[in-house]
Amino acid sequence: MRHLIDPTDLTRQETDNIVALALDIIANRAKYSEACKGKKLATLFYEPSTRTRLSFTSAMMELGGNVLGFSDANSSSVSKGETVEDTVRVVGCFADIIAMRHYIEGAPLDASMVSRVPIINAGDGSHAHPTQTLTDLLTMTRELGHLDNLTIGFCGDLLYGRTVHSLIKAMSRYEGTKVVLIAPNELRLPDYIKHDVCDKYGIEYREVSSLEEVMGELDVLYMTRVQQERFADKSEYERVKDCYILDTEKMALAKEKMAVLHPLPRVNEIAKEVDADPRAAYFRQVENGKFVRMALMYTLLKWADEGAEPLHNHNVVEAPQLACPNAKCICNNENVEKKFHLTDGGVYRCLYCDTKAQ
Ligand code: ASP
Repeated sequence: MRHLIDPTDLTRQETDNIVALALDIIANRAKYSEACKGKKLATLFYEPSTRTRLSFTSAMMELGGNVLGFSDANSSSVSKGETVEDTVRVVGCFADIIAMRHYIEGAPLDASMVSRVPIINAGDGSHAHPTQTLTDLLTMTRELGHLDNLTIGFCGDLLYGRTVHSLIKAMSRYEGTKVVLIAPNELRLPDYIKHDVCDKYGIEYREVSSLEEVMGELDVLYMTRVQQERFADKSEYERVKDCYILDTEKMALAKEKMAVLHPLPRVNEIAKEVDADPRAAYFRQVENGKFVRMALMYTLLKWADEGAEPLHNHNVVEAPQLACPNAKCICNNENVEKKFHLTDGGVYRCLYCDTKAQ
């Protein structure tokens, strides 16, 4: 069974095929209107969402299928203490594919280990958000025409921003990617992305603190929200929340052909005046999310019918002496078997959340 938990669960070729399929769907909407007729999507959202849940729902409707699920875990048996594993075993009896968002990192991976239908990770804590990545890849393709040789500036909350982590992983597979990390000290990119992704795949990256200084060299500016809900210390959030604000003055320093992306919701980080700039692609990006999710669900359901085997993209090791120190990891919240993977750099990381094992 194939699932999408991490962007690397798809090969580069498969990723390109899904983006190409999304482009075909955009060009030939009617052709796909019954492509998933008789199929059911379950959306299991344990954490708030507007775009992701509604775009999955709208995507399945446009494919001619149906949707069930919950957007508030308190209205489900989760409030009675049901585990993620049991919930997906049950929902797999009612649906052909499941999109799950969870505040606990690694919950969708745990779900995929027991599920009889494909699981799509619709965002797990601060960890990963692979369908936003597909959305971003489609958006960059439509805005700029290619994915190779792009210099991407990631700005804002790079520590908790799961969309940033997943997009950097995906971009590591394209030629000539350069990454500029624009963040306050408190919100820098996690080490595992810097070392296991950027260093491993030879992505050129540098960390800077001024957005103005780098504006002129970017092909893509990926703005992010500082994520209040991830801060244990609210005074720290107050200190960093307005660290970067994109306005027309800063846009004047950018290339003429450049795209501003944002996974949304925005708070203060993009001034409203920027919306009128043709380079502001974030609302077009939202619609791309629906098309790419159509392409993804169509592909995963086809693979499920064909009995496709998963990619083995992790070096999973038995290591009973190790522990995952992340309190927000599924392995420290539910009764799941602890699992680790050994990176090429010789570091043991939790399989569910990528935190360095102890
Ligand atoms: N919508 C994105 C996410 O779910 C970004 C955000 O919430 O700030 O990760």
